[in-house]
Amino acid sequence: MEKKRVYTFGDGKAEGKAEMKNLLGGKGANLAEMNLIGVPVPPGFTITTESCNEYYELGKDKVVELLKPEVDVAIAGVEKLMDSKFGDIENPLLVSVRSGARASMPGMMDTILNLGLNDTVVEGLTKKTGNPRFVWDSYRRFIQMYGDVVLGMKPENKNDIDPFEEIIEDLKKEKGVELDTQLSVADLKELVAKFKAAVKKQTGSDFPESAYEQLWGAVCSVFDSWMNDRAILYRKMENIPAEWGTAVNVQAMVFGNMGDTSATGVCFTRDAATGENNLIGEYLINAQGEDVVAGIRTPLQVTKIGSQSWAKLACISEEERADKYPSMEEALPEIYKQLDTYQRKLENHYKDMQDLEFTVQEGKLWMLQTRNGKRTGAAMVKIAMDMLRQGKIDEKTVLSRMDPNKLDELLHPVFDTDALKQVKVIGKGLAASPGAATGKIVFNADDASEWTKRGEKVIMVRIETSPEDLAGMAAAEGILTARGGMTSHAAVVARGMGKCCVSGAGSLKIDYVTKKIEANGKAYSEGDFISINGSTGDIYEGQVATKEAELNEDFTAIMELAGKYTRMSVRTNADTPHDAQVARKFGAQGIGLTRTEHMFFEGDRIKAMREMILAATTEDREKALDKLLPYQRNDFEGILSAMEGYGVTIRLLDPPLHEFVPHEAKAQEELAKEMGVSVETVKAKVNQLHEFNPMLGHRGCRLGNTYPEITRMQTRAIIEAALNLKKKGIDARPEIMVPLTGELKEYKMQADIIRKTAQQIFAERGDQIDYLVGTMIEIPRACLVAHQIASEADFFSFGTNDLTQMTFGYSRDDAGTFLPIYVDLGILKNDPFQTIDQEGVGQLMQIAVERGRKTKQNIKLGICGEHGGEPSSVEFCNRLGMDYVSCSPFRVPIARVAAAKAAL
Ligand code: PEP
Ligand code: MG
Repeated sequence: MEKKRVYTFGDGKAEGKAEMKNLLGGKGANLAEMNLIGVPVPPGFTITTESCNEYYELGKDKVVELLKPEVDVAIAGVEKLMDSKFGDIENPLLVSVRSGARASMPGMMDTILNLGLNDTVVEGLTKKTGNPRFVWDSYRRFIQMYGDVVLGMKPENKNDIDPFEEIIEDLKKEKGVELDTQLSVADLKELVAKFKAAVKKQTGSDFPESAYEQLWGAVCSVFDSWMNDRAILYRKMENIPAEWGTAVNVQAMVFGNMGDTSATGVCFTRDAATGENNLIGEYLINAQGEDVVAGIRTPLQVTKIGSQSWAKLACISEEERADKYPSMEEALPEIYKQLDTYQRKLENHYKDMQDLEFTVQEGKLWMLQTRNGKRTGAAMVKIAMDMLRQGKIDEKTVLSRMDPNKLDELLHPVFDTDALKQVKVIGKGLAASPGAATGKIVFNADDASEWTKRGEKVIMVRIETSPEDLAGMAAAEGILTARGGMTSHAAVVARGMGKCCVSGAGSLKIDYVTKKIEANGKAYSEGDFISINGSTGDIYEGQVATKEAELNEDFTAIMELAGKYTRMSVRTNADTPHDAQVARKFGAQGIGLTRTEHMFFEGDRIKAMREMILAATTEDREKALDKLLPYQRNDFEGILSAMEGYGVTIRLLDPPLHEFVPHEAKAQEELAKEMGVSVETVKAKVNQLHEFNPMLGHRGCRLGNTYPEITRMQTRAIIEAALNLKKKGIDARPEIMVPLTGELKEYKMQADIIRKTAQQIFAERGDQIDYLVGTMIEIPRACLVAHQIASEADFFSFGTNDLTQMTFGYSRDDAGTFLPIYVDLGILKNDPFQTIDQEGVGQLMQIAVERGRKTKQNIKLGICGEHGGEPSSVEFCNRLGMDYVSCSPFRVPIARVAAAKAAL
């Protein structure tokens, strides 16, 4: 059989159906389906997405030739149903031509309305409708739309003026009127003549009179629009393959602008913002669809309740509302009843909230479109749970409807949407840690702490942050940095704290000396208010009102469902008992990474730490370490007991030591005084610790192997903490983790120290506990020799931050200068520090999993890099067969839902 390229629909029949989205596009498939379930839709036909691909393979002429016989038959069918004729003078059929891809691509491609009009058809239509104003207004709109879209007259540059708009403006000036609607029929006729002259002048040809010539021009231009810059960019952003192509929907026109019994509108079957089960919509009497969205006239509410709450917000009395701004429920009660019936029918049929478009032509309601409506995170959760309770969908469908990233909106404060409309964006960075924060600018951690103490809200602005800034970060409302990517110190720490952070905002010029930021050509000083959105990366001038997050029963129910269907467990990255508790509340089952280094900065600890670093002999070092031991033991007791009953992976000291010593002269002097040594000694030590590539230098297990006393002290602190808890009846389960392993021997040397130290403590105490010893897998070589390392390790935890850094050779702290550009240029599809690069880094992980399991089948496998909370990476980890993912506390819910979805 000859391939079918055109699918017709109308009058309750259709050749397509909802399941044929791939071939008919979303819009076409739903138009067919609406017919099948008895919803009134203007008749028409859909040209397949495959024809779009043929258009690009075979060229325009060949495809028109292939389509023509089927299109002719389809048009004849529409003519019969509408009792009119395409191109006829007496009784003309007009059509719309719209694009419609598999996935919704709002506003990306082109639409043409009122097609089929020409100089003689207008006369016939005027006679038929008795409404010359409507006819001539439709005609001038058609020429404008067709000229812009099909004849390429739309200016490409935003600053250039649309030739048609220019003509309208000139005529309005000449006639002394302000609005298009004030133009008379004679004026509209004059417009048409001028528009046509403009077409002739710019294209060299007359405006096409033949309805069929117009139709083929429109169909081909929809195909062309699949490859316009906007559509290409959108596809890239949304990962839509070019091979999908777009379908073309040709449909009989119905008019909402034929007088007071005509109207047009849009509605959602439930509230897309809150998820409440209320019909929400807007409509306009005597208007075309574009008028509702164009904002020229204020649209009215569809329901009476909606209208009343709208009036309340606008401070309009009930009397005035009912008189001037009636709802559709009041103004067109019969039609409203029908609309209400159809909206229920459609929602029940699709079993999801629908976004609908409708038109009323002279008292007859037509549905023009239905699709699953876009919604906020809160609405996503509520609608799915309501539908589960109503028995419309099952538990697995609830989970499959969750966009894990959207759950984030429910966990953090957000900006008030109305407040946002008034503010100015002054820059953009990476959306490093979600939430909304507003406060006064401060430039260092001390000021952040001090200002906060005296009751000010601050945003800490840094070129980049270091562990020294921790206290300031904790005090500030939010953190803004000019450098650093998604796994930079600021980003990682902020996410851990659940604190809003925008990082890598490269366009900001931050000057610590003058205490000023230059952004978008304007200077902002210390004490000025700014606001940052860690969910989008936007930076705003001034104060913006925020709204607190609130977790409700539906959210809890979603988490329970996630727990029911997941295979992997979700742990958290936490360095304090508080973070561990927060994560546990969100359902974390253990800790995948405690970064012990973060514990060395608080209070007196940093002193002991620096003493240790400055020590000239092992003996002196041990003395300093003895001072740190009680602090560490105490910290570990807190964390282990907060995670009672679950595994807690504690990593031995990882960062290079230079991060712990002061670099400024004043602080060096103070340190010298405290230690009773000369400033020169301090300086010399700091210089000695300087490395050209600290990330590839003296860090990780290289520290523990060159200073085994550090490993001994940390092991002692962990094991003693667990034994102390055991005495109190608390089930502590420590897992000691060696960082940055690249070679079996270096790992084994650490593991031996750990096991020997533990044995010694067990002997001292006459008691023992179970514990594990394992390693981070974050160096490419470790992946390749994973079969060797597995022979000595109880577990592997993939440190995908460093693994990405070392696999790509991109510094995770400096990549902000080029990574965004690489993503823009399409060299990289995603920022690999946010989403696991499955092709490269992922391949190494797969090798490590396979080789590790070959040696030790039940070796415990997890991930603790930042990717552990990113949905597509979580899905990948599930595919690799990992036992758990670990992420910052506020990402635990996201990871849980992503893990459950991966397991469905
Ligand atoms: C990693 O490298 O992925 C990791 C978790 O460790 P860190 O971020 O502390 O280097
Ligand atoms: Mg690491």
